Amino acid sequence: MSAKTATAWAGAEKTPEGVVFNGVTIQPVVENCDGCERIKEFEGEKFCGSYPSPEMKWKLGACNFATHVKATLGEGGKVKINPLKASKRAARGR
Ligand code: SF4
Repeated sequence: MSAKTATAWAGAEKTPEGVVFNGVTIQPVVENCDGCERIKEFEGEKFCGSYPSPEMKWKLGACNFATHVKATLGEGGKVKINPLKASKRAARGR
């Protein structure tokens, strides 16, 4: 674990229910999170630095905190994800 990661999770504790950080139980990231810059590692597992339950976040549609995808509403209100657009935006630093 790097010093930066250790600082990010200072005070975090692994329990049978998940990792408890600042009094909140956080769950590991899900497959849809792959590539997101908000992922942080703690004791070999990956967690989201912005949302405690990534699985729930993605159940409601594309995660609005994600840095690796851009979600838009398409025809019929369905969520569309454009990873290329999000990638270009990230490269420009916005
Ligand atoms: S911000 Fe969203 S996509 Fe990124 S790690 Fe967290 S839950 Fe996953």
